[in-house]
Amino acid sequence: MELATRVQSLTPSSTLAISAKAKVLKEQGKDVIGLGVGEPDFNTPAFINEAAIHAIHDGKTKYTPASGLVELKKAIAHKLEKDNGLSYGTDQIIITNGAKHALYTLFQVILNQEDEVIIPAPYWVSYPEQVKLAQGNPVFVQGLEENDFKITPEQLEKAITNKTKALIINSPSNPTGMMYHQSELKKLAEVCLKHDVLIISDEIYEKLIYTADEHISVASISSEIKENTVVINGVSKSHAMTGWRIGYAAGPAKLIKAMSDHASHATSNPNSIAQYAALAAYQSDEDPTVEMRKIFKDRLDTFFNLLAEIPGIHCKKPKGAFYLFPNVKEAARAAGYVTVDEWAEALLEEENVALVPGSGFGAPDNVRLSYATSKEVLIDAANRIKRFVNKQT
Ligand code: PLP
Repeated sequence: MELATRVQSLTPSSTLAISAKAKVLKEQGKDVIGLGVGEPDFNTPAFINEAAIHAIHDGKTKYTPASGLVELKKAIAHKLEKDNGLSYGTDQIIITNGAKHALYTLFQVILNQEDEVIIPAPYWVSYPEQVKLAQGNPVFVQGLEENDFKITPEQLEKAITNKTKALIINSPSNPTGMMYHQSELKKLAEVCLKHDVLIISDEIYEKLIYTADEHISVASISSEIKENTVVINGVSKSHAMTGWRIGYAAGPAKLIKAMSDHASHATSNPNSIAQYAALAAYQSDEDPTVEMRKIFKDRLDTFFNLLAEIPGIHCKKPKGAFYLFPNVKEAARAAGYVTVDEWAEALLEEENVALVPGSGFGAPDNVRLSYATSKEVLIDAANRIKRFVNKQT
């Protein structure tokens, strides 16, 4: 049987491809360092686990409303007010199976065939694929390295056509770790308002910032911008809860209602037990990211400084998330590789360090290294990369 064209055109996840290769080497007994992962290496806090266990014992194991538990929506509304200065009613929030599913559902309800979504590159690998799955067309706008990989209002204006439906903003960014300032967000948002382009603001890394920069939700800049924005977030990165699969979207009630209708047929509801766990996470004053941030920052400083010493590797220091995104073109060229992908493959084979080539993120000269692993492992990885580069040149 022939598969549907929409899945035939899917690009396999570059993150998963390198992980698969690393797994094969591991099975052969090689001491592989995996820097490909996109999840905090910390355990979910005990009080959240306890809440889930209680939910099971209390029989909270039935269907919930398709758009999620009202208590959880209220807790999220409180979080949005407290952290982001945003006021939403429960009819403006939908709980989803992770932020990924919020984005997926949103594209399903806003895109018609050939509608365009502007995706600043480098980008998170799932954005273009999700747009394609909704029969839309991803339109990439290159954020230049000298502008911290961020796009400008002029670039945005140029990319807009009469088919443009939405712009994605991801700050702090995966893979670059860069952030947009309030003034930059305002200018981009004004261009969107002028052309009636919806803003999709993916704020999943808002709690993982290591500088004095403050996370600003673009929706908080004005009520007009808020009306034209859908905020995406969740507990995966903020509470080390990647496997629980709870995220949310907050935005105009009409859009949220359409997403809820879609979800009612697609998934019925997010896992009830995980929703009670997320409720505990949002209701608590405990902020697990305080400790995580300290540890991530220490790792970032160490790893960044070690990589900076390696010839041919140039890295902008990220402000948030948990990835380094260096440009390694010079190192690759000096060693005779035509592409950075080949360089990364050789690094995996020769020194058993698995990182993700930037080609999958729309940045073929860069690689992504996750520092969601221990400092010892990061030091070992940096030494191996250094040895690899020195050996080659
Ligand atoms: N958005 C970005 C930029 C991400 O990096 C990720 C996960 O890696 C997600 C969304 C999805 O997060 P979730 O686990 O909530 O689906």
